[in-house]
Amino acid sequence: MGSSSSSYAPRNIYLDVDGKVQKVVFSRFCCPSVIKELLYSSSNIPRSTAIMVVDPEGAMVSIDPTMPTNSPSYLYKVVPLASVQPEEKEGMLQNVLSHVAEQFSRAFHINEMKTELTNRLTMLEKRVEQGLKVVEIEKCKNDLKNLREEMSSRGSSRFNCSCKYNLDDGKKVTPRRDVPNYPKYTLSQETIEALKKPTFDVWHWEHNEMLSCLEFMYHDLGLVKELNMNPITLKRWLLAIQENYRNNPFHNFRHCFCVSQMMYGMIHLCNLKEKLTLTDLVILMTTAVCHDLDHPGYNNTYQINARTELAVRYNDISPLENHHCAVAFQIISLPECNIFANVNPDTFKNIRQAIITLILATDMARHGEILECFKQKVKNFDFSNEEHVICLKKVLVKCCDISNEVRPTEVAEPWVDCLLEEYFMQSDREKSEGLPVAPFMDRDKVTKPTAQIGFIKFVLIPMFETVMELFPQIEEIMVQPLRDSRDHYEELKLLEDAMTEGSSFMIKFGKDLKSQ
Ligand code: 5GP
Ligand code: MN
Repeated sequence: MGSSSSSYAPRNIYLDVDGKVQKVVFSRFCCPSVIKELLYSSSNIPRSTAIMVVDPEGAMVSIDPTMPTNSPSYLYKVVPLASVQPEEKEGMLQNVLSHVAEQFSRAFHINEMKTELTNRLTMLEKRVEQGLKVVEIEKCKNDLKNLREEMSSRGSSRFNCSCKYNLDDGKKVTPRRDVPNYPKYTLSQETIEALKKPTFDVWHWEHNEMLSCLEFMYHDLGLVKELNMNPITLKRWLLAIQENYRNNPFHNFRHCFCVSQMMYGMIHLCNLKEKLTLTDLVILMTTAVCHDLDHPGYNNTYQINARTELAVRYNDISPLENHHCAVAFQIISLPECNIFANVNPDTFKNIRQAIITLILATDMARHGEILECFKQKVKNFDFSNEEHVICLKKVLVKCCDISNEVRPTEVAEPWVDCLLEEYFMQSDREKSEGLPVAPFMDRDKVTKPTAQIGFIKFVLIPMFETVMELFPQIEEIMVQPLRDSRDHYEELKLLEDAMTEGSSFMIKFGKDLKSQ
């Protein structure tokens, strides 16, 4: 650190404000928001506009009490982010922000890295258990080594905060890295083809690669063109989305990616481009991307029983889904992230209403009601009937949301571990807080096969078979894998039962022997 004579000495920075030198003084104990206030006041920029500070070389300067001081001959500038027109100033922006992205991506996401590490360890253990080829295990080990190295090279604990969206202060959704440093269109033809199918290996990709895939989907479906989206805004929106998923074992950004990728797959498989409007596709994809934003890892039942702030705020009515949706539109309300900035107000109103309806429809407490409604329409389905189409969209989003078991076993199975980890975290907490515990979440009562058999037989197959009445082509690609998975878990269950019986027999037999 600097050799300043007193650690209490104020810090000075000098700004170029419309060609004049403006001095700003702050204490080193000021929090960043106070410094930001000073910057807004001294540069006459409205507080609703996001700002950044750049040095004369165009590098971004962090806004915090330790920010490097400068001199009147080396002035910083406060730049309003929203007023920078990316089309006009893309070169400048890219230049400034690639610095930032690079700097920031080092410092942030330690938690994401931890989750990645955990996920990959799970995969590695899984593969070792399954006795896969040594080459593959070596590859996994290498991946893990790289990951550990990456983590230690990013090792600043300063940003190690898991809180992405602070429920208390209502701030938070702003993307912390402004411009995306993930590569543009570097997807291989092979990846592009694979992306359209439920067999896509969703564990293979880093966050930046998933962001590129999502970006590609919006371009490829023609949504960017249709809504006249600014491509840089799309990137910033996706970054903000990623940063507003927490590092839960299950409800994390990779789950968001899975649901969105499955939606993209279903759009192709069911030829939805020919049956629905492009606005419908925007609604479907955007719902998938946003549907679990800022999920805290504890379900609605917990929220309600523990009387959390979310449950109080939403009167126990789908508190989580209401929250996911509110965060989604808080992100959209940031001018720099508003992918709908160029659609007319009526269209925006319709899109917003539809996304709200669809995100709220992901509450599994409403599963029976929504499936029933669709069943009544499917026999005489009419694509020109708005109610029919709304109902279909709800069911499609629901299908994608719970579609892990449609994927190949090696992709699907680690998700069950993730789900159970999240369930156990909840049930352990409920036990310690004296709240009711659902048996399906209780580590003493549930196993992987028991968790999956009922869910596949009574939730997944009935829903996908109903959708199959409208789109018979999903039978081979989506329904059959579900049936196979059900059979796989039933076999596992038999094995598990036999082992339990075997061991209780051994215990009893052992006791009998002892007592003789
Ligand atoms: P989500 O919370 O993801 O929006 O809603 C889906 C819910 O369905 C999950 O929270 C979880 O309870 C349940 N679910 C999704 N996939 C599976 C699965 O593969 N097995 C089981 N048992 N439940 C699942
Ligand atoms: Mn979900």
